[in-house]
Amino acid sequence: MSIKNNLNNIKSHLPEKVALVAVSKTKPVSDLMEAYDAGQRIFGENKIQEMAEKHETMPKDIEWHMIGHVQTNKVKYMAPFVGLIHGVERFKVLKEINKQALKNDRTIDCLLQIKIAEEDSKFGMSPQEASDILQSKDFSALKNIKVTGVMGMATFTDDASQVTQEFKRLKTVFEELKLLNAHNCQLEIVSMGMSGDYKLAIACGSTMVRLGSSIFGAR
Ligand SMILES: *Cc1c(COP(=O)(O)O)cnc(C)c1O
Repeated sequence: MSIKNNLNNIKSHLPEKVALVAVSKTKPVSDLMEAYDAGQRIFGENKIQEMAEKHETMPKDIEWHMIGHVQTNKVKYMAPFVGLIHGVERFKVLKEINKQALKNDRTIDCLLQIKIAEEDSKFGMSPQEASDILQSKDFSALKNIKVTGVMGMATFTDDASQVTQEFKRLKTVFEELKLLNAHNCQLEIVSMGMSGDYKLAIACGSTMVRLGSSIFGAR
């Protein structure tokens, strides 16, 4: 199947309110352009430098999402153009994003990455940490960032009931954080679901899925 067919097939059973991030990490620009020509406008990368290079050469109406681990010393390379940063795990990273956003005279949208998986290998902050950050004075001073939601990854397992439980947990955390009505926040996005588990994620309330291999093939 071609990239275009894969995309059309996925989009045909994606609810209208669920946004699709085409995860294009490691794939060549020619593959991304095939998706672009089929109408895809949101692309997700997990390395800041790779994303900056692709942004440089590709059409400017693309919305670039950083879905990987964010190193503070590299935030400056994406600050001029990044559309959404999914993987914010520490206050220190928010502070640096705010600083670079200010330099570029813009506001950068961010998601807090919450650890929902039982696996130790998965990144993210605890729901308590997220709540503490959003309610802190230091956070309310960051006028050039907007926290627009949460992101999470379920355990890599065939056990659908475990994955469902973890996704439901993220949705609950999202609802709880929303109730805080914190400054610099407009909580609307629950980014959860990858190629192997996005249907479960949507059933649990995902509003944004991040699909790589099901669009572009195995990496
Ligand atoms: C690679 C990646 C994806 C996409 O994974 P697929 O299984 O290829 O769909 C989604 N989210 C994150 C954070 C990733 O690193």
